Amino acid sequence: MSISPEIVRKLEAFVSEKSERYDALARDIWEHPEPSHQEARSSARYREWLAAEGFRVTEFPEMPYSFCAERGPDGEGPVIAFMGEYDALPGMSQACATVREPLVPGGAGHACGHNLLGMGALVAAEGLAALLEAEGTRARVRFYGCPAEESLGRIPLVKAGRFNDVSAALTWHPADVNTVHRYTTSANLSLVVRFKGRASHAGMAPHAGRSALDAVQLFNLAIEFMREHSPPGTLFHYVITDGGDRPNIVPEHAAVHLYVRAPVAADVHRAMKRVRNAIRGACLMTETTADITIKAGKCDFIPNPAVQEAIYEAMRALPLPVPSIEERAFAVALQKTVAPADRCATLVPIGAPLSLLKKPLHLEVGDFGEGRRIGGSLDTGDVSYIVPTGQLNAATWPLGVGAHTWQSCAASGSSWAMKAARYAGMSLALAGYLLANQPARLDAARAAHRRVPPYRSTMDV
Ligand SMILES: [Zn+2]
Repeated sequence: MSISPEIVRKLEAFVSEKSERYDALARDIWEHPEPSHQEARSSARYREWLAAEGFRVTEFPEMPYSFCAERGPDGEGPVIAFMGEYDALPGMSQACATVREPLVPGGAGHACGHNLLGMGALVAAEGLAALLEAEGTRARVRFYGCPAEESLGRIPLVKAGRFNDVSAALTWHPADVNTVHRYTTSANLSLVVRFKGRASHAGMAPHAGRSALDAVQLFNLAIEFMREHSPPGTLFHYVITDGGDRPNIVPEHAAVHLYVRAPVAADVHRAMKRVRNAIRGACLMTETTADITIKAGKCDFIPNPAVQEAIYEAMRALPLPVPSIEERAFAVALQKTVAPADRCATLVPIGAPLSLLKKPLHLEVGDFGEGRRIGGSLDTGDVSYIVPTGQLNAATWPLGVGAHTWQSCAASGSSWAMKAARYAGMSLALAGYLLANQPARLDAARAAHRRVPPYRSTMDV
């Protein structure tokens, strides 16, 4: 079934009627940035909105400010889920301007565009619910409120089985290009190792002390040597978060914060066996003890081809947003603030052509990243191990502007970004429509998903 122009018109009419309200919501979240684990206001805004639109809202106990909102016949038909995020980044406060200008010095800001991400997912959920209800299709639509993406992520929700009955999970991310998210991401694990030794006067009785800092240094040295003999793509990055108190005391305590990153989750588990051996070795050599705290961990993202295809078809069926003269001028000015040599950093990892950079905005649908893996990690990865999952990127930011920059924060508050977020939401709604109405697509998604390895969180090490 191809996508009929009538369905596209219906969806566009539904969304355009509410566009001012959607944009005001995304702008409001942008103006009230809340970092991970503090999203009380943002989460409440979505919950209240969805409840008023007839969604059954359930808050989850696994994480503060997480929830699910469902519309459609209770317990019947496939479940099409959209995942929304709303956390901001500490220290990234920035005005919607083309110069560096924090709104609140040192304050948080939406430099990853999650104010847009949540709104786009909301457009998707409401748009799809409206289409399905108009046609009497027996299917359910869900919006998952996913807090703390920038730190722990939705892993506790995945582990608690909150996604288990989903037929297809869809999401998107603000970016500088429009593309179906063909590329995969890396798995990771964040852990802190605290060594404990014995304090002593470093001048009078160093022999009586056992240095926890020595243990940290020997452990880090082991990690350095391990790099050469680890499979390609396995990365270790660390910082010493505690090096003791002062040089004339043999350090009783010292700690290192380590990230283990690898192509797939199973590689992280394998690497962690060796990391544990290195911790044991450091303890043995220094006569210290160690304590491990697992902070966070994400699986690699496994795109489901059937879901991705529905997203790609939907993206191409919808008219792309058109920038106004002012929006274009803003994009040109913002793009100029990124050094020309740095602009390719967003495009190279996903294999997008650098010729795109001749323009300020990406105004077509790309198809980038097939067979590629980026170094970053996403909590959507864990969802993709549980159910068929797909996602897209939408060009909310000027070409060459990457996430977690003041430029992306500035752009995320702009009217252009709102238009692009609504386009992303409509694309996901239309993709959900294809999946809900065509059993063969969901069959294909399920068949592909059977090849995904069993889920084991990288945090379970
Ligand atoms: Zn993000």
